[in-house]
Amino acid sequence: VSAPVFQRVALLGLGLIGGSIAAAIRQYGLAESVSAFDRSSVALNKGLSLGLIDEAAESVAQAVTGADLVVIAVPVLAIGEMLRSISAFVSPAAIITDVGSVKAPVIATAREFLPRFLPRIVPGHPIAGSERHGVAAADSELFLRHKLILTPVAETDSDAIERLSAFWEAMGADVVQMSPEHHDAVLAQTSHLPHLLAYALVDTLSQQGDSLEIFDYAAGGLRDFSRIAASDPVMWRDIYQANSGPVLAILDRYTQELLALRTMIKTGQFDALEEVFGRAKFARDHFSKVLSERAEQATLGDDA
Ligand code: NAP
Repeated sequence: VSAPVFQRVALLGLGLIGGSIAAAIRQYGLAESVSAFDRSSVALNKGLSLGLIDEAAESVAQAVTGADLVVIAVPVLAIGEMLRSISAFVSPAAIITDVGSVKAPVIATAREFLPRFLPRIVPGHPIAGSERHGVAAADSELFLRHKLILTPVAETDSDAIERLSAFWEAMGADVVQMSPEHHDAVLAQTSHLPHLLAYALVDTLSQQGDSLEIFDYAAGGLRDFSRIAASDPVMWRDIYQANSGPVLAILDRYTQELLALRTMIKTGQFDALEEVFGRAKFARDHFSKVLSERAEQATLGDDA
C-alpha cells in the first residue's frame, strides 16, 4: 500500500465519480480520511455502508474544514455555487479541484469570486465514466488506463498541479494538461456531439410506429450507438448549457454534412456518397492504427 498522499480529502458530491474516487482512495491508500458532503443523505449513507467514506458531513463547511484536498463532483451547473460556498471554510493551503465535464466556467468562477484561491484551484476531468450514476455504481478501477485532463492556468501553483497529478496517477489515470478552452472545444467534438446524436436518434426512433420492434431488431450498431442515450439527463442538460458555444460550432458543421449526404441520396449522387464513406473509413482506420501502435509502444515501454 502506497503512503497516503493527503491527510483529509473532502468530496463534495458522492455520485458515480465522487464515489469512485472514494473507492480508489481506499484501494490505493491515498488519504488518511475521507469526508463527503452530498445533498442526498441516501448517497452519504450508502457511502458509509459501502465503507467508501469515513465521515458523512452535514454541511459543506464540515466537510472542507481541515481538508488538504477538496474534490467537487456535482453536476456541472452546481460546481460554481459549490466553489463559492467553500471559500469561507477551506484552508488557503488546500488543493481544490473538480471533475466536471466542462472546464472554462470553473476557471471563470474562480477568477471572479475566489481570486485568492485561484493558484490552488486545478480543474480536472476524468475521461472515464458510464451511463450509470449514483454512488452504488462506484468503481475503484474506473479511472485505470483512462485519461485525466487537468486544465491549469498561468496563475496555478506548479506544486498543486504536481500533487494532484500524482494523486490521479496513483489511481491508474494517464494525466494530461491543456487549456480550459481547448478542453471544452475538444470534448464538444469527441463527447458532447456524440451524446446529442445518440439522444436524438433514440428519441426519433422511439417516437414512430412500433418502436419496440425497432429496438427488438436493432443490430449491434444501434445497440452500441444508443447505449450513451441511457446517460443521466440532468448531467447532460448541464453540459450543453455550460458548453453551448463549442457544441453549436461542431453541431453546425455536422448538420451541414448530414444535409449534404441527404442531397446526395435524393439526387442520386451515390458515387459522391461512396467517396465520403471512403474518406471517413480511411480516417477511422488511420487513427485506429496510430492509436493501437501508440498503445503497443506504451506496453513495450512498461516492460522494458
Ligand atoms: P451523479 O452520479 O449523478 O452524482 C452527483 C451527486 O451530486 C448526486 O449524489 C447528487 O445528488 C449530488 N448533487 C447534485 N447537486 C448537488 C448540490 N448542489 N450539492 C450537493 N450535492 C449535489 O453524477 P456523476 O456521474 O458522479 O457526475 C458528477 C460530475 O462528474 C459531473 O460534473 C459530471 O459532468 C462529471 N463527470 C461525469 C462522468 C460520467 O460518465 N458520469 C464522467 C466524467 C465527468 P442527487 O442525486 O440528489 O441529484
